[in-house]
Amino acid sequence: MAALVIDNLSYTYPDGTAALAGASLTLAEGERVGLVGPNGAGKSTLLLHAVGLLPSRGQVTVAGLDPDRKPRDVRRQVGLLFQDPDDQLFMPTVAEDVAFGPLNLGLSREETLARVAESLAAVGLAGVEHKLPQHLSLGQRRRAALATVLAMGCRTLVLDEPTANLDPRGRRELLTLLARLDSTLLVATHDLDAVLDLCERTVLLSGGRIVADGPSAALLANAALMDEHGLEVPWRLR
Ligand code: ADP
Repeated sequence: MAALVIDNLSYTYPDGTAALAGASLTLAEGERVGLVGPNGAGKSTLLLHAVGLLPSRGQVTVAGLDPDRKPRDVRRQVGLLFQDPDDQLFMPTVAEDVAFGPLNLGLSREETLARVAESLAAVGLAGVEHKLPQHLSLGQRRRAALATVLAMGCRTLVLDEPTANLDPRGRRELLTLLARLDSTLLVATHDLDAVLDLCERTVLLSGGRIVADGPSAALLANAALMDEHGLEVPWRLR
């Protein structure tokens, strides 16, 4: 079964702004896909639909489930990493932030503690359980936010600009750990080098439409296509 199916999705915000105009996209289980496009292309809007935070009227299916009908089940399948980790971390300690999701799913205290330990280890944050999230670096906060999603047991992760504003080391650490996950990934980003490293496939969204979809190296090397949609071919493909 596909991890995520978006079928001819259109969406207009209540103020009349058309953000998506018939976008279709299928992610196979375990696939890692870069979602690129100029500002205003509709990337964030598409991610919000993929996790059921905007109504999709049957045009989105997550692991066979309709997010409008089965929001709780969908929340166990797909998690969103917000661009700003402070939107995701709101408890007094890192451990409580990571425990929040599993406890809400109704898991036992033991199971929750096990998931907290496992998720923090997976993001290289074992040892900071009792720190205040505000006392971590941006790179650590973003990894803590990732742990909150992993602790929910989500098989599919949807990431909004995961490398934005990280220093080179923080960026490299995050990309390394994302590459180690066996999750299905949909990564919206302007960091085309990160896409090349992490994602075998890239989807180009522009004006609410998917205008290209294919192997990352070939798509990102297409100078005419990149130029037409306000992007640049990464240096190492020139
Ligand atoms: P991207 O993530 O590619 O920059 P967005 O999905 O954020 O694109 O935006 C797509 C379009 O929808 C843009 O024209 C943007 O201004 C508009 N938009 C985004 N969020 C809202 C909102 N909450 N209300 C109205 N318009 C919005």
